[in-house]
Amino acid sequence: MSWDFETDPEYQEKLDWADTFVRNEVEPLDLVWEHQQFVPLDGLRRKAIDPLKEQVRQQGLWATHLGPELGGQGYGQLKLALLNEILGRSSWAPIVFGCQAPDTGNAEIIAHYGTPEQKARYLQPLLDGEMFSSYSMTEPQGGADPAQFRTRAVKDGNDWVINGWKYFSSNARTAAFLIVMVVTDPDVPVHKGTSMFLVPTDTPGVEIVRNVGLYGEPMNDGTHALIHYNNVRVPHEALLGAEGQAFAAAQTRLGGGRIHHAMRTIGLAQKAVDMMCERVLSRETAGSRLADKQTVQGYIADSYAQLAQFRLFVLNTAWKIDKYNDYKKVRKDIATAKIVMPTVLHDIAWRAMQVHGALGVTNEMPFFRMIHGAAVMGLADGPTEVHKTTVAKQVLRDYEPTDGMWPTEWIPQKQEAARAKLADYLELEVGNQ
Ligand SMILES: Cc1cc2nc3c(=O)[nH]c(=O)nc-3n(C[C@H](O)[C@H](O)[C@H](O)COP(=O)(O)OP(=O)(O)OC[C@H]3O[C@@H](n4cnc5c(N)ncnc54)[C@H](O)[C@@H]3O)c2cc1C
Repeated sequence: MSWDFETDPEYQEKLDWADTFVRNEVEPLDLVWEHQQFVPLDGLRRKAIDPLKEQVRQQGLWATHLGPELGGQGYGQLKLALLNEILGRSSWAPIVFGCQAPDTGNAEIIAHYGTPEQKARYLQPLLDGEMFSSYSMTEPQGGADPAQFRTRAVKDGNDWVINGWKYFSSNARTAAFLIVMVVTDPDVPVHKGTSMFLVPTDTPGVEIVRNVGLYGEPMNDGTHALIHYNNVRVPHEALLGAEGQAFAAAQTRLGGGRIHHAMRTIGLAQKAVDMMCERVLSRETAGSRLADKQTVQGYIADSYAQLAQFRLFVLNTAWKIDKYNDYKKVRKDIATAKIVMPTVLHDIAWRAMQVHGALGVTNEMPFFRMIHGAAVMGLADGPTEVHKTTVAKQVLRDYEPTDGMWPTEWIPQKQEAARAKLADYLELEVGNQ
């Protein structure tokens, strides 16, 4: 039996290297090239960033989410979790390490369901970090409920013609291609009548109508596209996976994507804890350090406790993914991590902001960005409420309703059964009195 919380020394060395490398070499990129992570590299930025990627490759830490057959190291999700909690500190780090969302999930789908031609055309450049991709599923009239999806693809000879609207397709403006989820058979339930297509972004009829900005991004110059698919014609070979099976394939992507966000969130929340601790040790008010005030000590303790619980849960979930190699078996745990993640990040970032006083709410500190990030984590890849439904349903699968009028644990009934079981002793006890 093995039950261990230690990292093997060889991998720990790599993690130590990554920690120093991210702080010294990668975090500066966040400060000079904000919002540029998904812009294909031009001459100057390429000169700065390609050597960093090369160093990551030399350390054997490039694209660690992938198995060796796809150019990754085959480390598995647990080791990826330990690395991702370092990368989570920086927006650029996942790009420099070749494991950024949403490309990781998109690569996973193509790896699982793509034809050899599709893999050669899309997967390899994606894995090489030379191309970005976008996942185009949500529609303006509803994202959480696929039954609302209206975008259709209709067969025309050997082609499919796509018409409809998609919303919040991350990075579509800089992506080389889109994975589009569309209804191909409206006469069956949406889970059986939806297919995925690989659509190059420059295909005629792919019209990016607006690039919606998140809070803090410029108006209409953001990274989440509203796309009109206007008679977009693609060959049958653009179909990714089997016709009508898009939802099954999507789980491959979404399961991994969600837990990877959780792994990175550990790193970001830890950064907030670090900032909180430094501040409360550095600042004096009303005769003592902030660190000596009981309420502030409560902030530190609550933050430590929340993050420690979350981290252990995420690591355990990663371990289960490696163990079962089947996202379906870990769906409840991934959904649970997804539910908990926004609250953990929000609460810790909020406390860290509070102890920084006025400075905390300025754009000179990163707290609002973290709090906004927490809100995003409660929506992207599905709202918290929907994941709670998933968790509840899965938890309830292990239970049965009681037959009788009273709960199984109703004490009078249990007492009666206990008395019957121990009747011989009870009788003797009475006899001996
Ligand atoms: C930063 C970011 C990036 C994203 N990237 C992508 C992307 O790349 N590709 C893509 O296709 N989509 C993307 N999305 C969209 C995301 O998947 C959707 O926002 C999400 O699925 C919710 O859909 P919606 O916004 O239409 O909200 P709605 O479906 O309208 O839901 C709104 C709210 O209603 C409540 N609600 C909904 N359903 C239920 C329910 N069953 N029970 C109880 N309450 C419920 C929740 O509070 C929910 O937040 C992204 C979103 C964000 C914020």
